[in-house]
Amino acid sequence: MKYDVKSEYAGEFISDAEIRETMSYAEAHKNDRQLIVSILNKARECRGLTHREAAVLLVSEKPDLTEEIFALARDIKQRFYGNRIVMFAPLYLSNYCVNGCVYCPYHAVNKTIRRRKLSQEEIQREVIALQDMGHKRLALETGEDPVNNPIEYVLESIRTIYGIKHKNGAIRRVNVNIAATTVENYRKLKEAGIGTYILFQETYNRVNYEDLHPAGPKSDYDYHTEAMDRAMLGGIDDVGIGVLFGLETYRYDFIGLLMHAEHLEARFGVGPHTISVPRLCAADDIDTADFKNCVPDEIFHKIVAVLRIAVPYPGMIVSTRESAVSREKVLELGVSQLSGGSRTSVGGYEHEETPDENTAQFDVSDRRSLDEVVGWLLDLGYLPSFCTACYREGRTGDRFMSLVKKEQIANCCLPNALLTLKEYLEDYASPATRLKGEAMIARLRETVPGKYVRENLCKYLGAIAEGQRDFRF
Ligand code: SF4
Ligand code: SF4
Repeated sequence: MKYDVKSEYAGEFISDAEIRETMSYAEAHKNDRQLIVSILNKARECRGLTHREAAVLLVSEKPDLTEEIFALARDIKQRFYGNRIVMFAPLYLSNYCVNGCVYCPYHAVNKTIRRRKLSQEEIQREVIALQDMGHKRLALETGEDPVNNPIEYVLESIRTIYGIKHKNGAIRRVNVNIAATTVENYRKLKEAGIGTYILFQETYNRVNYEDLHPAGPKSDYDYHTEAMDRAMLGGIDDVGIGVLFGLETYRYDFIGLLMHAEHLEARFGVGPHTISVPRLCAADDIDTADFKNCVPDEIFHKIVAVLRIAVPYPGMIVSTRESAVSREKVLELGVSQLSGGSRTSVGGYEHEETPDENTAQFDVSDRRSLDEVVGWLLDLGYLPSFCTACYREGRTGDRFMSLVKKEQIANCCLPNALLTLKEYLEDYASPATRLKGEAMIARLRETVPGKYVRENLCKYLGAIAEGQRDFRF
């Protein structure tokens, strides 16, 4: 099929021929110093790269130029995100699933995993446990099962979550990661007030995709790949894309991911709000040894760095699949959102699961509590942020992206990060974390641009210390 970035058909905007030609082009130019230097010079303008240019950087082999790629990724990360890291937690509602994804233990024929779906009362208790940790931003996760997890169940759960007010806690942004669905259902999710709609492509290689998804509605490559287009048509303008690195060769999926981002920008005028970079990991009946494309650390780091350079605007997300060491490295190179204190089991926040209960989607590498993760980030010089302001202020889609592209969003992000960290320190932090956090706030509040914003920030910080909550810019 011909490649057409604006097409509504998956086979045209993710053209297999274009991906293969790009791979050959990148391979042929991997030692072309002049070309690589010119791509790096273009990238320094922070307006992004084409998938072809990015593919050359990804496979380039000159050690000194690889160092330049990493240095530029650090610069761009600093320029757009400063030292802020946005915190979130996944919330698993149900692990019933009718699909056959061979890399996920929730697949329908797995009889060893215990199936569980949370009632609204159980969701309340999970959310209170999450609020008591300090979380403000959730990512809802469910398997695909029209009988057990219909859209009505997801909508009711969102209403429940937003409705819970417990002590000073509140979930202020619910992002949703559910199966590809119809324009009408996306419209309902939008009306329910979701933040970002997240759906991972898993792999962009159609043949491999069909092998990895032998049964269930998800086996329809076109329907899955065109999901973000339907989400946009349903009015959701913040969408999050990602692949599961390790299912396909990383080069193929890296190019596919960028072509997907280019497609959304070309067709709707707004690219993805976030890009996630999960890596295949072990779980229940899933053994990574069965997958020949697993991505080693040094390649994974280069993927993150080149993505940061190629698409400077979207937030980049890493999950607790990664170890603390790996997370530290990718934070430096481009990741801007992090989960903390995560449980990947259904009902795991109220009651931590024992091995024989077995409802988790994957093994968590980073098992630290949220307070430990926040303390660790502060030690590394990062500013943990619980900010959810943009979507609540109507800064979504192209409005949000135009602020990001003009580099004006940082004027909101920094004061909001300081305000939400202050709330966290007052309500949830251990004494040691509180000490470190207060020092960070004292150091950064004077650096906030604009006298008016600085004055209000100081006023709001004082009000938070006296018990008021939920200020934002
Ligand atoms: Fe179901 Fe999602 Fe797991 Fe596939 S990846 S089996 S759709 S929960
Ligand atoms: Fe995200 Fe907007 Fe808050 Fe910045 S101000 S951290 S972009 S929600």
